[in-house]
Amino acid sequence: MSTDLPPLPDDATRVLAVAAHPDDLEYGTAAAVARWTAEGKDVSYLLVTRGEAGIHDLPPAKAAVVREDEERRSAAAVGVRDVRFLDDHRDGVVVEGPALRRDIAREIRRVRPELVVVNSHHETFGPGLWNSADHRAVGRATIDAVGDAGNRWIFPELVDEGFEPWPGVRHVAVAASTQPTHVVDVTGYREAAIASLAEHATYLAALDPRPVAEQAREVVVMTTGGDGPPRVAFEVFG
Ligand SMILES: [Zn+2]
Repeated sequence: MSTDLPPLPDDATRVLAVAAHPDDLEYGTAAAVARWTAEGKDVSYLLVTRGEAGIHDLPPAKAAVVREDEERRSAAAVGVRDVRFLDDHRDGVVVEGPALRRDIAREIRRVRPELVVVNSHHETFGPGLWNSADHRAVGRATIDAVGDAGNRWIFPELVDEGFEPWPGVRHVAVAASTQPTHVVDVTGYREAAIASLAEHATYLAALDPRPVAEQAREVVVMTTGGDGPPRVAFEVFG
């Protein structure tokens, strides 16, 4: 990762972070969130699914409950209380299209953020590392939904529901991108991010037999600059 990228513009007072699954925001982004909430920004999370297909030994109806709870704890660990889950999109088969864009645009109008954060919409995380269908769909739909949120005529039913257009998003920051353009200095916020990821205890334990705290530390250090200065990189649009 380049170390000479400029800082992400720091002018937002409200931030909406969108993710396909519980845990997606906890692989690095949560360190930036910890800084933002410490600085007094209001940060909201929007989860498109409950990650109900993510635990091999747990049927979706049970996994959804566990993973929603873990995500709420994880959000609280970095100062986020406003956590919402969409109900109409199924883990593993999220479809990019007007229904998803409308559902995300509704939340952008509700939160009225100046900054929207989402995980990578790109096909890969780098050479040989294919990104998942849900991540690609949610990433692309979120970037499109920023425009939809500002336009009265694309989803007029949202106005009927009471959600007036919000054209105030200034930037979309894409995490885990192969083409980062900006960074957030997260010096002092790594421990909060590690604690946040470690709240996904059931999920992480199902993936790897090592202690959850050990896994969380290893992954968060790797995704926040490794041995270099702690930072989170984003590809910024807008
Ligand atoms: Zn995911």
